[in-house]
Amino acid sequence: MAKHIFITGGVVSSLGKGITAASIGMLLKNRGLRVRHQKLDPYINVDPGTMSPFQHGEVYVTNDGAETDLDLGHYERFTGIACTRHSNYTTGQIYHAVISKERRGDYLGATVQVIPHITNEIKQAILSVGGDDVDVAITEIGGTAGDIESLPFLEATRQLYHELGRGNALFIHLTLVPYIRAAGEMKTKPAQQSTGILRSIGIQPDILVCRCEHHMSEEHFKKLALFCNIERRAVIEEKDVALSIYEVPLELQQQGLDELVLEFLNMRAKPPALSAWKKMISSLRHPAHEVELAIVGKYIQLRDAYKSIYEALDHAGFALQTRVKIRGVQAEDVEKKDAASLLAGVHGILVPGGFGYRGIEGKINAITHARERRIPFLGLCLGMQCAVIEFARHVCGLKGATSEEWHPKAEHKVIALMAGQKSVTEMGGTMRLGAYPCVLAAASQARALYRAPRVDERHRHRYEVNNTYRAEFERRGMLLSGLSPDGQLVEIIELRDHPYFLATQAHPEFQSQPTKPHPLFRGFVKAALSHRSSPT
Ligand code: GLN
Repeated sequence: MAKHIFITGGVVSSLGKGITAASIGMLLKNRGLRVRHQKLDPYINVDPGTMSPFQHGEVYVTNDGAETDLDLGHYERFTGIACTRHSNYTTGQIYHAVISKERRGDYLGATVQVIPHITNEIKQAILSVGGDDVDVAITEIGGTAGDIESLPFLEATRQLYHELGRGNALFIHLTLVPYIRAAGEMKTKPAQQSTGILRSIGIQPDILVCRCEHHMSEEHFKKLALFCNIERRAVIEEKDVALSIYEVPLELQQQGLDELVLEFLNMRAKPPALSAWKKMISSLRHPAHEVELAIVGKYIQLRDAYKSIYEALDHAGFALQTRVKIRGVQAEDVEKKDAASLLAGVHGILVPGGFGYRGIEGKINAITHARERRIPFLGLCLGMQCAVIEFARHVCGLKGATSEEWHPKAEHKVIALMAGQKSVTEMGGTMRLGAYPCVLAAASQARALYRAPRVDERHRHRYEVNNTYRAEFERRGMLLSGLSPDGQLVEIIELRDHPYFLATQAHPEFQSQPTKPHPLFRGFVKAALSHRSSPT
């Protein structure tokens, strides 16, 4: 039977619960334990798939095709363990399940209530990640202690904690110990109060993890232990890290958090194997080179919108001892100003995924610039569709070539709706989602980078390359280097006569890890490095 860890947050949001949960999972995994992660989100949307990136940031896609919270990306990057659709539940999903049961008559005439029906459904969701093949399940509860909407989730974990019994479950509370500049002091009161809120609903945290800007003094530790009713040794500091979120697990490990978790859960495990991780940290601390890459997108002002892309670029940088500097370029600006001035001096250009027409012409202008000036280019999903449109217009001379997504009546819809999408009317969860296989062409850059004839990548799209134009593209020098096994879908394209011009219909960024960068990102950063030393 799996042991369960529940992670709650207090005082403010954005404390880094996801990173903390991921770090704990990473430490336990590297001690040989089988770990699973889960995030409970208290909003009413069934999933974030229909939410704007401004609201929610990136939508992270799992292998089994769930559209989920971006914290799942942290879990996978830190542990290398794939999440599933059970790794993310929202209030919307829980209520949807309960209301469907009620309509079916499953409750046999009972009055359906938050307690026990909603809380039972939540408990079932939590237990679904704690199967026989799991040693420790880590569940992060979204929101902040005191929020009305997260109460049913907290109540469900309170019940489960007692049902599982001492030594089988653990509450870790992540809180804030702010530095008040005017007083020149760090204050423990907010942390005392957020722990107090949990106690008032029957939850006594076992471990308190304190986010802070400066080191806490022994006095702070003692005070927090006393007022929060927690052992002194179970008060842990999580000070802002200097360089990278990937330093967090090592900081926590130094304070013995992994040992403490094992002790509280009555478990034993081998010492942590952290040498690969430490090597990666030392590389990120001492880069030998630097490249500047442009991301031409609609949400560049919002770091969370392209989270996995930024991470994947960093990972490639770690492996190449290279600091990757990002120049965020607003796609619409490349429509008004010329690409050459906005992109002057960059060593690589990346066009990410997206939806809708806004900014498209700017992305296409940026791609023309990358193609003509032989600047390394990586296109992801919509980025690939734009690259195909650019090629169709400017190399094949197909005037007004476009995508059916924005111009359904155009003459040259070189990007068209997938056959299976034609009957779709509902927006949520209906795209081509999750991992699909892709066969790589023998003499291609993609094949050389992946070092495999066949790969699996995750998808999230409705449109694809229109097969009518394939022969024309190939004749003009585009290599369709990745195809679905039945040959029907173009998954990767590249240009023969270019140092690095590669685009994929998939989202490879979701599979990159800090100690195992994704081959396409690594290839891109490597090409950027060569471009920097000898611009073509
Ligand atoms: N809007 C495009 C489609 O649906 C691309 C999607 C994406 O970039 N994720 O096909």
